[in-house]
Amino acid sequence: MENCIFCKIIRGEIPATKIHEDEDTLAFLDIHPVAPVHFLLIPKLHIATLGDVDVQHQQLLGKMLWLVPRLAASQGCTDGFRTIINTGRVGGQEVFHLHIHVIGGKDRLPAMIHHG
Ligand code: AMP
Ligand code: ZN
Repeated sequence: MENCIFCKIIRGEIPATKIHEDEDTLAFLDIHPVAPVHFLLIPKLHIATLGDVDVQHQQLLGKMLWLVPRLAASQGCTDGFRTIINTGRVGGQEVFHLHIHVIGGKDRLPAMIHHG
C-alpha cells in the first residue's frame, strides 16, 4: 500500500506521535484533535474500511477493541470515551486505512449526531 498515509506512518516514512505499537497494531495522536484526547488505533495490515473486513480478521479486530479501553486509560480517559469508525463515503471516511478514533477528555462530549 504504497501511497496510503497510515501505511507510511507504520513504515516510519511520515512522523506521528505514537502511543502504542505491537506486532499487529499502532496507535498515534490524531493530527487534528477534536477533543483533549484524540488518537487513532490502526491495524498494521492494510484494510481499507470496516466494510472490507473478512472472517480472517476477527482476531485482529477483537485485539483492537480489547486494546481501546487500555490505551484510553493510558491517555487519561478514566471516566469514559467515544469510539468512532467512519466507513466509506456516507460515513465520511477520509483516510482509507481502517482506524478507530478514540476521543475523550474530562468533559462530556457533545451529542454525536444532531437531529435537524
Ligand atoms: P476519517 O474521516 O475517519 O478517515 O479520519 C481520518 C483522520 O486521520 C482525521 O481525524 C485526520 O485528522 C487524521 N489524520 C490524517 N492524517 C494524519 C496524520 N498524518 N497523522 C495523524 N492523524 C492524521
Ligand atoms: Zn494503509
